[in-house]
Order: sequence, then C-alpha cells, then structure tokens
Amino acid sequence: MARLTETRQETGTARTLVFDVPGWPGHLAGQHVDVRLTAADGYAAQRSYSLSAPDRVELSVQRIPDGEVSPYLTDVLGVGDPVEIRGPVGGWFVWRPGAGRDVLLVAGGSGIAPLMAMIRARRLAGRGTRFRLAYSTRTPGDVFYADELRRPEPGLDVTHVYTRVAPDGWPRPPGRLMAADLGDGPPDRDCFVCGPTGFVESAADLLLARGHDPRRIKTERFG
Ligand SMILES: Cc1cc2nc3c(=O)[nH]c(=O)nc-3n(C[C@H](O)[C@H](O)[C@H](O)COP(=O)(O)OP(=O)(O)OC[C@H]3O[C@@H](n4cnc5c(N)ncnc54)[C@H](O)[C@@H]3O)c2cc1C
Repeated sequence: MARLTETRQETGTARTLVFDVPGWPGHLAGQHVDVRLTAADGYAAQRSYSLSAPDRVELSVQRIPDGEVSPYLTDVLGVGDPVEIRGPVGGWFVWRPGAGRDVLLVAGGSGIAPLMAMIRARRLAGRGTRFRLAYSTRTPGDVFYADELRRPEPGLDVTHVYTRVAPDGWPRPPGRLMAADLGDGPPDRDCFVCGPTGFVESAADLLLARGHDPRRIKTERFG
C-alpha cells in the first residue's frame, strides 16, 4: 500500500503525486505502475501510470474530464491517503544510463511523464549521452515540468511544439508535430515516443520517414 506524501500542480488539469511505498524495489526510467482504486462496495478500477522520476515513486496524472480514475487522483486524493500501487511494470520502454547512444524523445501531452524520468536519470548518472526532446502540447499552459525544462542543461535540447496556441512571437505557427520539429541529427539514435495513440502513430511514421531504424523506435501508448 502506497501513501501520498507530496503533490504539485503541473498545469490547470494535471497533478504530480509522490508516494511512499514501503519495500519498493526500485525501477528503471520508462517503467510504469498500476494504480488500483477500490470503492466501499468492493468495485475496483485499475489504470496504468508512468513513473516520472527514476529515484522515487512519482506519477504525473492528467485529468480526463469524464474519467473514472484520473479525476480522483488529480482532485480528491490527499496527502497521507493510501492507494494500492503495483509495480514496477514494463521492461522494454526503458532507458538505461549505460546505453551510450544519443537519444531522441518525442512526447505528446502527459506522454512526457516516462520521458521526464529518462531526462532525470541522465542527469543523475552525470553521463554525456546527448538527449533531444520534442514535446507537443496544445498550449504553453499545458506544459508539464515547465520550470525544470526551461533550465539550460548541457547535452539536452528541448523543442516545444504547440498545436493550438503558441506564445507571442513564437517562431513556429501552432500545428501538429512535423519532421522539422524532430531536429536534424543523424537517425542512428534510440527513439522513445509516448502519448495518445494517434500522436504516437504519426510521430513514429515521421521517424521512419526520416530513416530511423524501426528497431530503435520504442513507443508507449496512453490510450
Ligand atoms: C503504460 C501506460 C502509462 C500511462 N501513464 C500515464 C501517465 O503517466 N499520466 C497520465 O495522465 N495517464 C497515463 N496513462 C493513461 C491512464 O492509464 C488512463 O487511461 C487515464 O488516466 C484515463 O483514465 P480514467 O479512468 O480517468 O478515464 P477512463 O474512465 O478510462 O476514460 C474516460 C474517457 O476518456 C478517454 N480517455 C482515456 N484515456 C485517455 C487519455 N490518456 N487521453 C484522452 N482521453 C482518454 C476514454 O476513451 C473515455 O472516453 C497511461 C496509460 C498506459 C497504458
């Protein structure tokens, strides 16, 4: 049983939750957990959430307006409350600090969560692997971890793509992710793509069209 110890509002509709989980075995950046909620009458609902930090059980949840589980996690669960968490789950969509190759991360909306765990794992490892992040959100107000991503970090390039509203003077007009947003680095990088299904499919198509090796494109769909 996990207990909520800390929360942070990421955006108007998303919240980051930190849990204390006695006996937690540790996890790799990119893995997720299953959160199970059980009502007083025994009805249970379970959803997956990515771990957004490599060194603690931290989840970032986007509220889906008519959702069953996410509104409870973003609006109701309070510090000190218990919740059932199982994991860590998943061994394929993971980044290991020793991997060596340059990395391209492509995030849509809350799909940034496991990719942020990778960015933080790289920072903790203090290694020189080069990371590039292309992060698509509807508006600047929808950006998770905005302050952290704004801070310059050697070896990490961040490109924001806004699909609906861009800041004043932003060089790129609002619109969906395009090949040019992925940078012009060589295609021999490990690619991690995460977000809603439609976003993941179109981003993976862009990567393939740019000559990336399909065996190095890893995807995670949030539904
Ligand atoms: C491996 C994995 C990792 C995930 N990690 C995260 C994470 O880190 N953060 C996070 O916020 N979510 C994450 N998700 C999505 C999460 O599991 C839930 O699907 C989401 O929170 C909605 O659950 P709900 O019970 O609130 O909505 P539901 O009651 O399941 O659905 C309500 C309505 O919303 C639609 N819907 C469901 N999911 C989404 C979505 N993601 N976007 C838009 N519409 C949706 C449904 O089609 C339905 O119409 C992850 C999913 C997977 C499979």
